[in-house]
Amino acid sequence: MSASPKGVTVLGATGTIGVNTLDVIARHPDRYRAVALTANGNVERLLEQCRTHRPDYAVVADPAHAGALEAGIRAAGLSTRVMAGPEALAEVAALPETDYVMAAIVGGAGLLPSLAAARAGKRVLLANKEALVMSGRLFMDQVRASGAELLPIDSEHNAIFQCMPSDFSRGLPEVGVERILLTASGGPFRRLPVQDLEAVTPDQACAHPNWVMGRKISVDSASMMNKGLELIEACWLFDTTPERVEVVLHPQSVIHSMVAYTDGSVLAQLGNPDMRTPIAHALAWPERITSGVAPLDIMEIARLDFERPDMERFPCLRLAYEAFSAGGTATAILNAANEVAVDAFLSARIRFTDIPRLISHALETLPHQEADSLERILAADREAREVAAAAVREGRLLERS
Ligand code: NAD
Ligand code: MG
Repeated sequence: MSASPKGVTVLGATGTIGVNTLDVIARHPDRYRAVALTANGNVERLLEQCRTHRPDYAVVADPAHAGALEAGIRAAGLSTRVMAGPEALAEVAALPETDYVMAAIVGGAGLLPSLAAARAGKRVLLANKEALVMSGRLFMDQVRASGAELLPIDSEHNAIFQCMPSDFSRGLPEVGVERILLTASGGPFRRLPVQDLEAVTPDQACAHPNWVMGRKISVDSASMMNKGLELIEACWLFDTTPERVEVVLHPQSVIHSMVAYTDGSVLAQLGNPDMRTPIAHALAWPERITSGVAPLDIMEIARLDFERPDMERFPCLRLAYEAFSAGGTATAILNAANEVAVDAFLSARIRFTDIPRLISHALETLPHQEADSLERILAADREAREVAAAAVREGRLLERS
């Protein structure tokens, strides 16, 4: 290993992934050092993290919180430099002293800083799947052009990466990979009678059976939009098509995904459902480090179950397939409308079953275009948010059922 610790920027340090990343980093002070930590507006947690990790930079995306952060940093006697605003996020993703960037902002807000890290040729630890859903081609082109290292943090994609041959970028058929088996827990509503989905509450949707996660991704898991986004993410990361990615319900979340080869072999990655495993894997790759995750007790687990997903119960999964086939800006529209819908559901303005309705409405209303520039992608994102927000305001979709 290298003599001096690798500098790490953690985008979204105060979120679930950010906190887990800092937990792993703190176990290996000889290998990693926090260069920059960012948050949206949770100044209290960011300050606490700054006191522990003493980063060179602390950034709040929302400038309204800059004063409070600055005051807290000075009161703690730290020399951490305070920055604010969306541009500052991109700036700390591309610092010369940063080697690795954990891209763990939730949603489309993570796109520009994640892209900045890719453009700067960093090792990008990508948790922000929405960035790839919005701008897959552009993002992957950027990674290739700069020579950045892209390591997936999403547990499924990290598992797939671990089961792939090291030269998979030559093309999956070329390296003997037949297909990817993308596992899904099915979330909290896998067994709920379909007619009861309409009345589920945000807290029920966020009570994931196996994983502790931020509220947005928890709702995505309950609707299985998360698996839809992950299908798209897998297609970009591993340069393949949805026909070669099979979604498998696996309620125990012990197998985190599998890769099937032409000779009949299927390789799987197993572990306890704890994000510190993929985080530690991506930080140390190709080496291995301790992560704090308890060893997997296979005897305790005793059995592993598999089922096919039900597209009627989970229309969001179907919408994701359709958006990816439509191509261009359709996936950016899908993602943006989903973000608005999830937000509206979490604040009790729409029902759970309105989420796919709102997304269909945005996809039907807006024309799909080539996603050949960042401007086009950002415009599609903006328009889809407007269309979805207007539909929520007018309550039109709520009346339909
Ligand atoms: P979270 O809600 O717990 O944290 C989100 C982080 O992003 C916070 O630090 C927050 O301050 C920051 N943020 C939110 N809005 C922002 C904005 N507008 N500008 C700048 N920063 C902003 O979310 P999470 O569960 O940690 O998920 C983060 C990302 O990782 C998501 O893209 C999610 O899909 C992905 N992911 C999470 C998990 C998991 O287990 N939590 C697993 C796989 C993938
Ligand atoms: Mg996942």
